[in-house]
Amino acid sequence: MKIVIIGGIAAGMSAAAKARRVNKDAEIIVFEMGEIISFGACGLPYFVGDFFSNPNYMIARKVQKMQEEGVDVRTLHQVLSINAQKKSLQVKNIQTDEVFREDYDKLMVATGANVIKPPFKNIHLNNIFTLSKMNDGLELKEKAMSEEVTDVTIIGGGFIGIEVVEAMKKLGKHVRLIQRGSRVFNRIFDERITELMHEELLEHGVELVLNEGVKSFEGKGAVQEVVTDKGSYQTDLVVIATGFKPNTDFLEGSGLEMLSNGAIVVDKKAQTSLKDIYAAGDCATVPHMVTHEDVYIPLATGANKLGRIAGENMAGGEAEYPGSLGSACVKVMDYEAAVTGLNEEQAEAKGIACESVFVKDKNQAGYYPNQHDIYIKLVYEKETKVIIGGETLGKNGAALRIDVIAMAIKAKMTTGELGMMDFCYAPPISKTWDALNVAGNVAK
Ligand SMILES: Cc1cc2nc3c(=O)[nH]c(=O)nc-3n(C[C@H](O)[C@H](O)[C@H](O)COP(=O)(O)OP(=O)(O)OC[C@H]3O[C@@H](n4cnc5c(N)ncnc54)[C@H](O)[C@@H]3O)c2cc1C
Repeated sequence: MKIVIIGGIAAGMSAAAKARRVNKDAEIIVFEMGEIISFGACGLPYFVGDFFSNPNYMIARKVQKMQEEGVDVRTLHQVLSINAQKKSLQVKNIQTDEVFREDYDKLMVATGANVIKPPFKNIHLNNIFTLSKMNDGLELKEKAMSEEVTDVTIIGGGFIGIEVVEAMKKLGKHVRLIQRGSRVFNRIFDERITELMHEELLEHGVELVLNEGVKSFEGKGAVQEVVTDKGSYQTDLVVIATGFKPNTDFLEGSGLEMLSNGAIVVDKKAQTSLKDIYAAGDCATVPHMVTHEDVYIPLATGANKLGRIAGENMAGGEAEYPGSLGSACVKVMDYEAAVTGLNEEQAEAKGIACESVFVKDKNQAGYYPNQHDIYIKLVYEKETKVIIGGETLGKNGAALRIDVIAMAIKAKMTTGELGMMDFCYAPPISKTWDALNVAGNVAK
């Protein structure tokens, strides 16, 4: 049995490690076009912001360790194409330029995603960055830490853009965030939550530029000005964080079923539309737990889990992924926020009649220091009151409360059941009726 995996980061290495554990005899080859494997890009904003200084902390597994465990990891090897009929690949050794054929019994595509670079004029100027690979982080940090960079512009108010805002504030820069829509996390978080995020960003001195679309950059050699459809801003450095696209162009003509954005469609077993070919991670879809649709949610959480399932199944198993809820969290300066499941717009688009409640409560007892506000939103089916989504915002434990809501969705709990759920209590940690109980009871 020969298992070949394309891509050696989250999904690919989770698959390789699991396949190795399940099947001791299989030959397992991982082709990775970069120099490193098992790299946690999620740490990049915090590395750039100098919350830690050793970039190797972002590498979970070393090539040598995997070789010792019997996984044949070949870095600097790019897969150029696949032939599903012949069960073979064209592979290029990047160091020698040699192109060779490799056969497989089971194949996994785990090639991740590429950053979307909108067609801004003069995007080639120096000091304009994106953040996705290790080298992006190393180069951005070196430049951002230099004293001549005092003004930083971040384009895109999503997860990565907001994390880079915190990083640049930590480095003492003047930070400007340009967002094309009227609010950060457009259509991801409720307006009442994004309004609180805006206040938090402004309070920390972030220049928030909403409802403006970037058109071009100006400068001699390095960027000096960002031009939008409404004005222009002098700046020393730009970070573009406008989203990701599945890295599947090289699979054109392979016959694999894909969404319109190029995400490979997989089922709960991580199996693609072609026999013996699996996929997972940022290059593929995940089945949604509530709608059961194939959706694109490029997160490390799903990449690791579906990757592991692909590994088990390629090695002979029959594992199934229960589905994704798109659970995600983010720090917005001193706030933490999280989201899971469906919001009203998404539910209604699927024909699910729903209602929601939004409560403001406290995270813990008032007489213990550091009590904070906590905001919880619950979305639930109108008729049954079964919970289908939620959002949280606050400090000290607000984000992790989303995991309770995620569990409630999986268990098909009603708002009433959440209201009476036996949660823990001690004054420094929560309240006798936790904010989640309160949200459930208000929704009744
Ligand atoms: C700055 C940043 C912050 C993030 N923060 C979070 C977070 O807080 N929480 C979260 O859940 N997610 C986060 N993510 C997303 C998370 O990093 C990704 O979901 C995850 O890395 C996806 O893993 P993957 O294995 O699918 O793809 P990738 O990590 O993109 O790995 C794919 C690998 O495949 C290789 N490859 C591509 N094509 C070929 C080819 N043809 N031949 C050989 N090799 C190839 C690439 O070189 C790459 O190394 C963040 C991402 C970024 C960029």
